[in-house]
Amino acid sequence: MHIQMYIDGEWTEATEGNKREIINPFNQEVIATASEGTRSDSEKAIAAARKACDEGSWASTPASERGEMVRLVGQKIKDNREELAHLETLDTGKTLEESLGDMDDIANVFFYFAGLADKDGGEVIESPLPDSTSKVVREPIGVCTQITPWNYPLLQAAWKLAPALAAGNTLVIKPSEITPLTTAKVFEFFEEAGFPAGVVNLVLGTGAEVGALLSESNDVDLVSFTGGIETGKTIMQAASGNVKKIALELGGKNPNIVFADADFETAVDQALNAVFFHAGQVCSAGSRLLVEESIHDAFVEKLVERAAWIKLGNGFDETTESGPLISAEHREKVERYIQIGLDEGATLAVGGKRPEQADLKNGFFLEPTIFTNCKNDMRIVQEEVFGPVLTVETFTTADEAIAKANDTIYGLAGAVFSTDIDKAEMVAGKLRMGTVWINDFHPYFAQAPWGGYKQSGFGRELGKIGLEEYTEVKHIFRNK
Ligand code: NAD
Repeated sequence: MHIQMYIDGEWTEATEGNKREIINPFNQEVIATASEGTRSDSEKAIAAARKACDEGSWASTPASERGEMVRLVGQKIKDNREELAHLETLDTGKTLEESLGDMDDIANVFFYFAGLADKDGGEVIESPLPDSTSKVVREPIGVCTQITPWNYPLLQAAWKLAPALAAGNTLVIKPSEITPLTTAKVFEFFEEAGFPAGVVNLVLGTGAEVGALLSESNDVDLVSFTGGIETGKTIMQAASGNVKKIALELGGKNPNIVFADADFETAVDQALNAVFFHAGQVCSAGSRLLVEESIHDAFVEKLVERAAWIKLGNGFDETTESGPLISAEHREKVERYIQIGLDEGATLAVGGKRPEQADLKNGFFLEPTIFTNCKNDMRIVQEEVFGPVLTVETFTTADEAIAKANDTIYGLAGAVFSTDIDKAEMVAGKLRMGTVWINDFHPYFAQAPWGGYKQSGFGRELGKIGLEEYTEVKHIFRNK
């Protein structure tokens, strides 16, 4: 399989003819090659999006028709969910069950924004001046660039593509160079659905080469980025040249607060799901467990016992509960953090090394890892590891739990487990995070906004606000 870029309605090779091998992280086999673009490919794609934007036909297409085309792409995703899920599992190593779930969520994201496309007709406001009218309308922002990470390749792309198109923008998207397969596949659907040339463009390659121009270019009106905090800071600076709008969905170090009055089994299940789902490579992973001191020992005993039994393996094997990490480089990063935890004096309760099974030797696996005796000022507690590593701390009062939970530069998500719902709601209200779950972990859906407080970023995806982020607001005042 070889995948190309899609620029101005044409499938194209990289200008300099470079290619990259795409690797299956389960066995390191080459599953595809992808065109590896350079800055000049980004320039071409931005020029195509600019031309399509300036001609204005997409923005002036009735919103209901734009919505219909977005819906058609969602339907094609739904109809091809198995092929897409297969590609996602090959590319990321996540279980096929997870990938199938992603595809269903992705189709729903397209359907949701398709439905919203023609719902905001603006508003008429009362003018305080005599004989005048005043109305407020929303318009597309213009040319949007979108940069996505490798952990949820098509899901993160869908969160950006569907609202940008529904709102009438033209765009260029760059998936992670490690995981471009499903995003490229969906461009076949854009083509089949009849999107006009230049409205949707796909560039492939590294962030430093292809991605940089997407945030720097003065021909771009908005850059939407999902990825690491350091890359986010670079993009923010690069975007300042023409004061383009920015949306940043960055990392997280998400607290999971378990009170002694929580339903014990549910809290154990969810604490494991929170951090070990997709090998912890989830921006909202519950990687910091704060457990009330009186149940700490029993809770940790259960967690450790269960973590040791999580079945690692091939994502295509139905019995597999967790796949590998994405790359050799990323596994080494997580291993460095495990060493940091040990050096800081945390107690390694389980895991901490590569599994010994022969059938996992070629994959980038790491055992589910739990550190106890952690303190909030440790780097293992403060920094995003983005792997299967849980830190455990204790608290004795709700105020202490809130203070510890908020004591981080991040503010993406968190959870509270308690059967005292008033207490859980009180705690949820005091957490400085974009999403708080009560008695659950990870649920998200197209209708609810997603995004971070503090250094987890700004701007929101999904929900009604996810469409509004791709619009400008205009006030039109008329005298007589
Ligand atoms: P990353 O920052 O390394 O890369 C993300 C994307 O940015 C890739 O496409 C990459 O090629 C590109 N990029 C890299 N340098 C660039 C530059 N200078 N200019 C423009 N683009 C550049 O992140 P990653 O390792 O792919 O993903 C993991 C990170 O993503 C984690 O920190 C995770 O928390 C975060 N994430 C956040 C969310 C969220 O919703 N907040 C969701 C998923 C992942």
